[in-house]
Order: sequence, then C-alpha cells, then structure tokens
Amino acid sequence: MKEGQPQAIHLKDYKVPPFLIETTDLHVELNEDETFVTATLRFTRNPDAENEKDLMLDGGKDLDTRLVEIDGRELLSNEYAIDDQSLTLFGVPDSFELKTKVAIKPQENTALEGLYRSGDMFCTQCEAEGFRNITWYLDRPDVMSVYRTTIDAEKKNYPILLSNGNAVARGEEGDRHWVTWEDPFKKPAYLFALVAGNLEFIEGTFETMSGRSITLQIFTESHNIDKVDYAMDALKRSMRWDEEVYGREYDLDIFMIVAVESFNMGAMENKGLNIFNTSCVLARPDTTTDAGYERVEAVVAHEYFHNWSGNRVTCRDWFQLSLKEGFTVFRDQSFSEDMGSETVCRVDQVQMLRAAQFPEDAGPMSHPIRPDSYIEINNFYTATVYEKGAEVVRMYHTLLGEERFRKGSDLYFERHDGQAVTTEEFTLAMEEANDADLGQFRHWYSQSGTPQVTVTGEYDSDAKTFTLDVEQFCPPTPGQPEKAAYHMPLAVGLLDSNGDDIAFTAEERDLATVRKDGEYTAVLHLREPKQTFVLGDVSEEPVPSLLRGFSAPVKLTYQYDRDQLMFLMKHDSDGFNRWEAGQRLAIDVIQEVVGQIQAGIEPMVDERIVRAFEHVLNEAVERNDDDGLDKAMIALMLALPSEQYLGELSEIVDVDSIHAAREEVRGAIARQLSGLFLSVYKLNKSEEAYAPEPTDIARRSLKNAALAYLMQPSDTEMVSLCVEQFEGSDNMTDTSAALRLLVNSASAEARDAKEKALTDFYNRWADEALVIDMWFQIQAACPLPNTLERVDALKQHEAYTLKNPNRARALIGPFCNANPVNFHDRSGSGYRYLADQVIELNGINPQVAARMLSPLTRWRRFDPGRQKLMKAELERILAQDDLSPDVFEIVSKSVEQE
Ligand SMILES: [Zn+2]
Repeated sequence: MKEGQPQAIHLKDYKVPPFLIETTDLHVELNEDETFVTATLRFTRNPDAENEKDLMLDGGKDLDTRLVEIDGRELLSNEYAIDDQSLTLFGVPDSFELKTKVAIKPQENTALEGLYRSGDMFCTQCEAEGFRNITWYLDRPDVMSVYRTTIDAEKKNYPILLSNGNAVARGEEGDRHWVTWEDPFKKPAYLFALVAGNLEFIEGTFETMSGRSITLQIFTESHNIDKVDYAMDALKRSMRWDEEVYGREYDLDIFMIVAVESFNMGAMENKGLNIFNTSCVLARPDTTTDAGYERVEAVVAHEYFHNWSGNRVTCRDWFQLSLKEGFTVFRDQSFSEDMGSETVCRVDQVQMLRAAQFPEDAGPMSHPIRPDSYIEINNFYTATVYEKGAEVVRMYHTLLGEERFRKGSDLYFERHDGQAVTTEEFTLAMEEANDADLGQFRHWYSQSGTPQVTVTGEYDSDAKTFTLDVEQFCPPTPGQPEKAAYHMPLAVGLLDSNGDDIAFTAEERDLATVRKDGEYTAVLHLREPKQTFVLGDVSEEPVPSLLRGFSAPVKLTYQYDRDQLMFLMKHDSDGFNRWEAGQRLAIDVIQEVVGQIQAGIEPMVDERIVRAFEHVLNEAVERNDDDGLDKAMIALMLALPSEQYLGELSEIVDVDSIHAAREEVRGAIARQLSGLFLSVYKLNKSEEAYAPEPTDIARRSLKNAALAYLMQPSDTEMVSLCVEQFEGSDNMTDTSAALRLLVNSASAEARDAKEKALTDFYNRWADEALVIDMWFQIQAACPLPNTLERVDALKQHEAYTLKNPNRARALIGPFCNANPVNFHDRSGSGYRYLADQVIELNGINPQVAARMLSPLTRWRRFDPGRQKLMKAELERILAQDDLSPDVFEIVSKSVEQE
C-alpha cells in the first residue's frame, strides 16, 4: 500500500460508542449559497465504554466550522482540534451539551451523500455515512437519539419543509418561514432526512389494525404528481400485509414519501419520511413498463417494511447490514409473491441472484453476507448482502416452516425493539423461539462463495428405495481458502412415470415435509460434506426433482439426460423446477453448439429443444382462455438463459461463441415454430385499457416474448407488425418492447424503421426523464456492431449528463453489463470506454463510479488477450490521482488478488 491510501476497517475491532447522544436538536438554515447547520447535542458517557478523556466526532472535509460550544461556553482553540474527518474535544465531562455551527454547500455536493440539491429542491441521503457531511456527530448506527429538527428557508421556492416524525411548530418572518419536526422514536443518524422544495402531494389514509388513522402523503415536483397513485395503493397494501403476515403496525401518525430525480440508490427508509429515486415511485401506463410497476410496488413495500426491520430494530455496525437488508428483501419478496405469481417471482429472484450475486461471489470482491472488513462501506451495498442475505433468511423459513419462523421473528422484534443489534441476535431469536439448533447454519454469515452441491441417485427395485448421495463443496474465495460444511435445506420430490409426485418416506431426523395438492416435497437437512439420504416407499424408478423452489443459494449438479429434462419441464409439480428443467435443457443444447463452433463444425441444434418449446407454445394456444394458466410463467420458459449466465457456467468465457451459439438456437426455434409464435402473439393482443394487474402483465409478457421470436429472422411482415405495435400501443410495456426489437434487428427492413422509431420516441417523451433513460438504455444494450460508436455519440447528446445517476447508469450500465459481445470486443474499446467513464465519474460521484466497475473486475474469467486489456484498464484507473476510497477499494482488490 502506498502511503496515504485508504485503510480497511475490521469487524473484530468493534468497540461500543464512548458516549451516547440523548437528544439531537438541529437548526438548518437553507440558502442558495451557504446552508448553516446548528446542532445542539446532549451527550452522556456510555457506562459500557472504557473511560476516555477526549471525544472524537465524525465530520466530512467540507464542514466549515463556525462555532464550538460546551454547556454554553465557546471553546478556545486549544480545547479542540479539527481535521479532514474529525472534531476532537479535549477533556470532556461525563455529561454535557455540545453546540456546533457549520456552513455547508449542498449545491456543490455532486456525490449526493448528506444534504444536496436535486433540481430545485434540497434533499438528503444519510445512509451509510452521509450525516457527517451535514454536521459533527457520532455517525454510527449504534448511537440512537431523539431528534428535533427546525428547517428555515425562503417561502417562495421552498414552501414545503419536511423532516422525520411529526410537525410540531411552524412560523414565518418576512420572505422566510420555518417548520419544527419532532421524531419521538430514537434513531441512528443514517435515518435522518430533510426535504425542502416547491412540491405537490397526494394524500391518503390508512387505518391500522388497532384502529389508528395514519395520514399518507407522497410528494413530487408538479410535473410528476400524476404518477404517484400506484405507489399510494402499493403503500396501503404493504401496510396491511405487514400487519397480517408479521403482526407489525405502523407507529407514527404520518408517513411520507418524496420522489427525487438525483439519487444514488433506489430509495431510503428514513423514519417516517422515505426518500425515493423517481424510478422507484413514479408510474403511469404510458410512461412506465410492467416491470417498472412491479418495481414500484416492491420498493415501496421494501422501504415501508424497514420501519420494523431496520428502524425499530437497527444494526449495531455496518458489518451487520444484511441484518436489515437480507431480512427486508426477503419480506418484500414474500409480499410480491403474495400479490402476484409466487413462481414467477421466484424465477425472477433466482435469475437476479445468478446474474449479479454468483459472479460477485466468484470474483475479487467476494465477501460473506456479514463482511469482516471494508475500506468504503458504500461498496458493500451488494447483491451478496441484499440478495444472498435474503436467501439466507428464506432458508430459516424453509427449515423452520412458516409458523415457527413467525415465532422467531416475533421474538426478535419484541426483544430488540429500540436496539441496535447484530445478525447473531436474529439467529438467537430464531433458535430460542423454536428450540432449534442453528449452530452450523451460522456459516452462511461468515463464509463467502457459492456452494456447489453434487447429487447422484440410485434406485433399488427390490427395496423400493431411492438413494441420494449428496456432496457439498465451497470453492476458495479471497481470504478463505477452506470452508466448513453448510447446513442447508434440500427440497426434493420424486416423479413417477406418469409425472405425478411419489409419496415417499425419509428418515425422521432429515425430514420436514410439505404437502400441497398433488405435491409431495421433502426438505432434507444437508449438513455433512458427503451425506446419503435413503428415500423409501418408492414404487418405481423415479425422476428426481431437486432443490425445489431453489431451496438454497447453491449451484446444483445432477446428471440429467435431455429426455428427463423434457419430462420435468412438462410434469414437475414445482413450478420453479419446471422452469429450471427448461433452462438446464437449453444450457445443455447451447453448450453443445458452443463446442461445435469452437471446433469449426457446422452447428447442429438438437431437435428436442424445439419440441420442448413447441409443447409449451401448444399449451399456451390450447389453454389461452384458462385463467389458471400462468402466461408469465410460459413467457419465462420461452426465454433462453442469458449470455452472461452461460458465460458464468464456463471455465473461460468465450463471449463470441456463446453469443453465436445462443443466436443459432434462438434462430432454430424461431424458424421452426413461427406459426405458433404468431398464434400466441395474436391470441394475447388485447384492446382493453391498460391495467397493471398480474393477469394483464402476464399476457403482455407472453405476447412480447412471442414477438421477440417473430423478429428473430425479421422479414418485412414481422417488421411491420412490430412497427404497428410501437405506433399503436397505449402503454410503455408494448411500446418499449417493440422499440427494443426494432433497434436490435439486423435486417435491412428494420433499418429505416428503427431510426424513425428512435426519433419519434425521443421527441414524444423528451420531458419525461425516466422514459428518456429507457431510450438511452435500449440503444446501449443493442448487440449489433457499432453500438459503441452510438454510445459515444449519445454521450454528447443534449439530454445526457453524468451528474444524474439514473442517466449515467442508463447509458453505461446496459453497454457494460448487458451487451457482452460489444463490451468485450477484442480491440479492448469497450474496456477503455468503461475505464474512461469511471475516471470521470470518480471526481463527480464516487459511489456511482465504484458500482460501474464490476464488469472489469471479472477479468480473470476471460482469455489471455482480454485479460491483459481489462487489467491494463484497471491499472490505468489505479494510477489516477485523487482516487476515491470507493473506486480505490474495488480496483485494488481486483488487481491485487493473484
Ligand atoms: Zn433496504
């Protein structure tokens, strides 16, 4: 390490806070040039801490300190010291009142951490450590305080002044006014929020289970106020669900959401005042896709659920982030499953896990869901902490069952309400409420890497047993060469030759059984590195259905042949495994074609995949009017595994062969089944008005999946069908699907149509920021040659700016993450492009810059030529002056690890 490089912080060094802050009184005077923050803090020595004479407070380098006062006396310059990140008070008493006044410049805060400007409004983002950019504080989650906040601003431009809790006083003087907010619940500084602006709002009410009436308000700038009704409905559904499923009632009298255009994350659960990226709260049929609607519902729920899992019970330190995030993601996933199709949600979750978390866990940033160390905590808001964290909570649910899981969560909330705790407290509550032993299960918190589970099965026709030999292994990850065996639930079913579930038996100690209509699933407890399960009463040689519902976040291997996979695709009573069998079949067939291409042989696509798809499509046609048929599930089954996931499954990622092979297989399916695709497309067109209802969403997803195959060869007729949908649609789902297909089409017929469509689309939606984001995304994700030239040109577009995270992500993200053939172009131009963007963003918004980096960090997975090019770009970034800790941590870990 060079001198002056950022240092790592370790979990093992945790110490309780030296002081507690009983009350926090803030006075914030907002101005166009400077903002003044006066903080009056009531400190008492923490009885659990070692006695230290001096007290060090956290603060950012941009705090311009104007006053430091203790118990009403201004301190002399030798009584305290200030550096870039701390204010040290020398020789403090056991109990005292500190008053500080600082000047800050929110309008220059492009990192968007702390208090900043988004358009014409002021807003905050304090998680994880943004509050220290607002005032001197003990900015750590285990310091919880009661807040009273007065906001003072000019009336005309900032008629709305919001903070946490309830508004208790207001007044005005000349052209300025002020509002005082009081939050009766103790909270850590990361949950503080403040908003000031010229905002409109809609209002609703919710009656809680104990009969209290809560006022609900959603605020936006005036041009977006027509896009928040759906979020309001979603909020009410979330509040009801949390009462019914977890027994959790809302606690304040008011709950507010504010939509903000410039925001680093999706949304933030500040107590009583959630702040949302516009992309996670706005929805209107003509501007928002079905996926957008689903995202709004899920994120509104997620942030609301944090009121208990995160706010009432919070984290002791940031290593425990998964305590609130893993649990809350699991809660929002369960909510979405209850609102829509459980299986479709589960497939989406697993696809996300495989696309983002598995690669992370196999790369240089691999970390356990409870990391041991970090340089910059912002880098640990990861798929591992969130999505794998949610899988770990889901495993408690699977191992214990619904009722016992609820007993555990009740105990957790009851015991730790108002506390800042660790993941261990969560596990203890689950154990103690159920008299369960989760000792070995704790490895999920401390070990990184994706476990591999290999299963073989043998049928004994005399004994009527089916024996499963199961092995688990977790590959080495940075800092963890060897792993202990995990305790995990392995949900298993057995199918007879008719495709029905067999009601088999298993040993008591291994078994928890789930029996639904016609479904017989045993949850086996896998604990050993090698373990044998003997299943009895198996009347005939079965086809096993393994890891049903994706019961553990692992990579499972079983030597299925293609006929068995087709059988499971048709018959498995577990919807997730029906989809999974189709994926396995497709992977197998595509990998075969990859091998043919690499060997220079004419590619031959196995007919069986075409027949499997034909069966699925015939079912869609024959049962079109059947309400029980999940069309969204069929659409998912028609989607081949992504190139990224196919790459993930190979030793060395052969980007070009994977792309060519997948196209070959898609082409074969599209050509041979074009008639069926057209029938499915026509059957699922509808003249009815748009509604974001699950059945309608499912119908559109199936229709657009069919259109994608129809556009594969893109003859003239199909191009006009696509143009017709683009021009005639009343909703953004169909409009954007058609636009994407036109843009991606290589055919001569589509060439003129696509340019016209792009221009029309831009002109129509120029004032809708989120739609224009989509316009950038679609172009950046196009797999055709010369996309980088287009992306480069778009960087100069009048609507483009790196300062708005949504816009920056819209252009850079899809090109680098969802466009492998172009990003990995052999010339290295894609790598150079990403490095340039990261270097530029590093000076503007380090957090967003660091997040962009991940595709480059995976350089080890590619051929030597690409490795060299990718590594050179990482080294070029590392050589930059003024590298932020965020970017430094990810780049240095990527190049270091040998
Ligand atoms: Zn969260």
